[in-house]
Amino acid sequence: MVTTTLPRSAASVLSLIVASVLTAAPACAQQQDARAPREWAPNDPTRPRPPIVDPGRPLGADPAGRVPSDAIVLFGRGDLSRWTSNGEDAKWKVGDGWFEVVPGTGNLATRDSFGDVQLHIEWAAPSPPQGTGQDRGNSGVFFMGRYEVQILDSYMNETYADGQAASLYGQHPPLVNASRPPGEWQTYDIIFRRPRFDADGKLISPAIVTVFHNGVLVHDHAEMFGPTAHMARRPYEPHPDRLPLVLQDHGQPVRFRNIWIRDLERGEPST
Ligand code: MG
Repeated sequence: MVTTTLPRSAASVLSLIVASVLTAAPACAQQQDARAPREWAPNDPTRPRPPIVDPGRPLGADPAGRVPSDAIVLFGRGDLSRWTSNGEDAKWKVGDGWFEVVPGTGNLATRDSFGDVQLHIEWAAPSPPQGTGQDRGNSGVFFMGRYEVQILDSYMNETYADGQAASLYGQHPPLVNASRPPGEWQTYDIIFRRPRFDADGKLISPAIVTVFHNGVLVHDHAEMFGPTAHMARRPYEPHPDRLPLVLQDHGQPVRFRNIWIRDLERGEPST
């Protein structure tokens, strides 16, 4: 016969477990609060920073040297012919296999337009580092010229959580800080799904972004609240289904290399 009466010691263990669960509940709720973007003011400096992880070390051949056969190479070892500065030839500095922001010359935009894409891009913050917070290795990748994945030197450089490297600026902090030191090449692999609007310009579905920073998942199907803004929320406004990809001139000489993009709406051959 099975008895349902617990020995005194077992009962006290059970009460301890119940007590610890009850005690843990507020901490759990607090953690959820920290991850609830809608409950934080944009650029709030008191927002908890994500934990730091080591992104690991190169293994075998440099994957930067490879490109999928159906990708469009936006920059390999050549020139900036696929990019423009305000409709004119790109004015950023080109080196051997890399190019660099020339502060004050303006953003770069691709000559081609894109909607849903997979993007691979490599960048390096200036070394030795100069400045602090948002003034240290700042640039950005703007999908459709509107939706920014932040580029920043976030290696031992404090700033607000939703403005650090790999944040969806002003909206979502990355899940972890997988930054490498300034001067080292870093990678973003991004899946961007454009927002959808109906015939009347009403939003059907938001932009959705998945990001790997140095191979580490930092956004998993994150929904954007609207176009990127500073200390503000901008509502969605209808726009074309395809628009240029933009790299930001934020006044600091950030470097780029090995940029390729896969058009997820229209397969194009590699060029
Ligand atoms: Mg930026």
